Amino acid sequence: MRRRERDLCESGAPVIWLLGGLDPSGGAGILRDHWTARALLPAARVGAIVSAWTWQGQGAPARSEARPLARIVAELRALPRPDAVKVGLVPQTLLAAGLGDALVAAARGAPLVVDPVLVASDGGDLGAGVGALRGLAAAATVMTPNLPEARALLGIPAGSATQPSRGALLDGLAAIAGATAWLLKGGHVEAESGGEQAGEVADHLRLGGRVVDFRRPRRPGPDPRGTGCALATAIACGLASGRPLEAAVAEAITWLDGARTAWRPGRDRRPHLPVAGVV
Ligand code: PLP
Repeated sequence: MRRRERDLCESGAPVIWLLGGLDPSGGAGILRDHWTARALLPAARVGAIVSAWTWQGQGAPARSEARPLARIVAELRALPRPDAVKVGLVPQTLLAAGLGDALVAAARGAPLVVDPVLVASDGGDLGAGVGALRGLAAAATVMTPNLPEARALLGIPAGSATQPSRGALLDGLAAIAGATAWLLKGGHVEAESGGEQAGEVADHLRLGGRVVDFRRPRRPGPDPRGTGCALATAIACGLASGRPLEAAVAEAITWLDGARTAWRPGRDRRPHLPVAGVV
């Protein structure tokens, strides 16, 4: 082992695992997660396990191809024990074949932050499935759905005339997995004001029987693409550093609000979160 690696191993630097899809542009997925972990915990040791390759931004809707389960499980078992795990896109075929159980066993009690990714930001099918994500929820420490993901997890059609309040959505999510904390994110839906005052954005953490609201002024910023990935990874970084969940969530939200002010134009000419080395 080289000296720097040995120093890191001996320094007690936290270990974070990232399990998710690879978006080659780095705008979302595991490259975005890696950028976030590096920005927030530069000394952390980061294990990145790709669940699926994806193709995006090439003029056609995003697509994905799951990697073989046995490879993923072997990689999980070969990594040092994590202090926290961030889970992003996981194709339903992998969860149906037992990846959730293998992950829980390999993570040996480390907290799991699960961003229930269903579709790509362009609406493309990434192979994720609602039923599989509901199954994974019980193993998660915290699930971080945005409003469309929360509705999908609860089987509420997108265009349905009567939309439940955010409180009702949180109750429904808690009924899926009551011991799991749920962070319902309001930021993705610009036009929607339910649960928010005019000009504000609100996220809501349901933790046990309590709900903690994170309200702040809504600021124009980049495309939401990659922000869900970054937020969940930031929460995992906090947990890996020993922060309690509520503090880790509060700090991650504050960090992301700041990061959103430093956007850059992407190849698609839309504003995006910055990322070192993005193509
Ligand atoms: N993971 C991958 C591989 C993706 O392509 C996407 C979105 O396109 C996501 C995750 C979800 O990203 P976010 O929730 O940050 O928008």
